[in-house]
Amino acid sequence: MSFKIVPMITENEINERIAELGAEISRDYKGEDLLIVGILKGSMPFVCSLMWQIQNEGMSVDYMCVSSYGGETESSGIVRILKDLDESIENKNVLIVEDIVDTGRTMSKLLELLGTRNPKSIKICTLLDKPSRRTVEVKLDYVGFEIENRFVAGFGLDYDQHFRQLKFIGEVVFD
Ligand code: 5GP
Repeated sequence: MSFKIVPMITENEINERIAELGAEISRDYKGEDLLIVGILKGSMPFVCSLMWQIQNEGMSVDYMCVSSYGGETESSGIVRILKDLDESIENKNVLIVEDIVDTGRTMSKLLELLGTRNPKSIKICTLLDKPSRRTVEVKLDYVGFEIENRFVAGFGLDYDQHFRQLKFIGEVVFD
C-alpha cells in the first residue's frame, strides 16, 4: 500500500507547546516530588523535551512499555505490558506521559493498574488527543494538541514502527 506523510504540526509548534506545558507542570508541582512515567515507545521524544522544560528538583523519570496496536492502525482493545516500571510509585505524585490518547482504552487500563499501587496522585499528560474517537472516558490533565480523527506519525509516533524519528507530526495519507 502506498502512502505519504503530510505535515500537520511543525517542529516549532511542538516545541513551543511543550515549553508551555512544562511551565504549567512546574507551577502545579512546585515544592512537590514528581515521578514522570513515560509510556514507551511513542512518548520517548515527548518525555525528553518535556523534562527539559520542567523546573522541579524532586523530579524523577521511569518508563513502562505497553503495546496496543501491533502494526495495524486500529486498537485491538488489549493492552499488553511489555515492560513494567523499575520503581515503586507508592506515595508518589505520578504524571503519566503518553504520545496520544485515541479511544482511551490504553490510558484507562494504565490508570486502573497504577491506581492499585497506592500513588499519592496520578495525572495524565498527552501530546495529542483525538477526542472524537473516545470510547472510554478519561480525564486528561495536560494536552498538547487536540486533533481530528486522522492517523498520525512522527515525534515518537510510528506507522508500522517507522517515522518515530521525524521532528514534526504528519498525517499518514494512503493513496
Ligand atoms: P487508545 O488505547 O487510546 O485507543 O490508543 C492509544 C495508543 O494507540 C497510542 O499510545 C498509540 O500507540 C496508538 N495510536 C492511536 N492513534 C494513533 C495515531 O494516530 N498514530 C499512531 N502512530 N498511533 C496511534
